[in-house]
Amino acid sequence: MKTKAAVLTQTNQSLEIEELEIPTLKEGQVLVKIAFSGVCHSQLNEVRGLKGVDNFLPHTLGHEGSGIVQEVGPGVKKVTEGNTVILTWIKGNGFDIPSTTYRRNDGSVVNSGAISTFMNYAVVSENRVIPVSNEHSLRELPLLGCAIPTGAGIVFNTAKINKGETVAVFGVGGVGLSAIIGARLREAKSIIAIDIFNHKLELARNLGATHTINFKEQDIAACLNEITHNAGLDFSIEASGNRKAMELAFNSIRTGGGLCVIAGNLPAGETISINPIELIKGKQIVGSWGGETQPDKDIPIYLNLYKTGKLKLNSLITQTYKLEEINQALDELEKGMLGRGLIEMT
Ligand SMILES: [Zn+2]
Repeated sequence: MKTKAAVLTQTNQSLEIEELEIPTLKEGQVLVKIAFSGVCHSQLNEVRGLKGVDNFLPHTLGHEGSGIVQEVGPGVKKVTEGNTVILTWIKGNGFDIPSTTYRRNDGSVVNSGAISTFMNYAVVSENRVIPVSNEHSLRELPLLGCAIPTGAGIVFNTAKINKGETVAVFGVGGVGLSAIIGARLREAKSIIAIDIFNHKLELARNLGATHTINFKEQDIAACLNEITHNAGLDFSIEASGNRKAMELAFNSIRTGGGLCVIAGNLPAGETISINPIELIKGKQIVGSWGGETQPDKDIPIYLNLYKTGKLKLNSLITQTYKLEEINQALDELEKGMLGRGLIEMT
């Protein structure tokens, strides 16, 4: 059996759509017919070679998706054939099978990690699938695999934002918008969205931002001082993968307990600069690993919020592409144009 897949053969080159032979399932693996995949900055960084030397070329990619289980390998107990699943890069319960390999028609090997989603059929590790009821739209479920667990997870688990507190979100793509939704659910008082695109700021406002600031057109420090009456922010969340934004996010929190959470990545080797006296004065800075999400426990909670209309996943999806348009999707993501872009498999 074969699948179409987007393959990264060389970093800094376009992904190529190839036909690959699907391997026989090993213990702990699941074959999923992918319906939709999200596109996020992690894949962009991989394709652009920003994560450093890539030792796994050529390889497939993609790490949030939705689909239907076609077959399960020996020992798999979490899902069975026909189950609707969310695919997530964040490790949950079940077998952890770190890699798999596909073969091209000429017999050469294409590598995959524990999960890939830029393909029609994917062999994934049991611990990267979360079974869900089949009543849901497959189109919206991918967002529960990376964007929402990371963005809302930062608000709920990492920062633990409470009612009445102030937070600024730097960069309102998929993760940033999810953080705004999370902050709204936690009834934060001021939720400030910061980005370079006005159409994304408008989207952020629709999803719960109380203030918006255009990074290119406005003086961020002055705007934040006005909003917080010079008190500084309780929290800042950086989801832009931009050095200046990271430094600003740290500088904007209040002394004596303000917390800055870094979610974005910089190109390998690039660093940020902060003044240690700010740490001594009680500012804090931490990073987040997928919003500290425990998928088997947390994703059903998000699914329930979605079911009851409190999590408007559809609003986050700004563009849908075919698998053949994957490079266009990455280009538009790179330009900062997207909320969350989706790839629809056919
Ligand atoms: Zn992601």
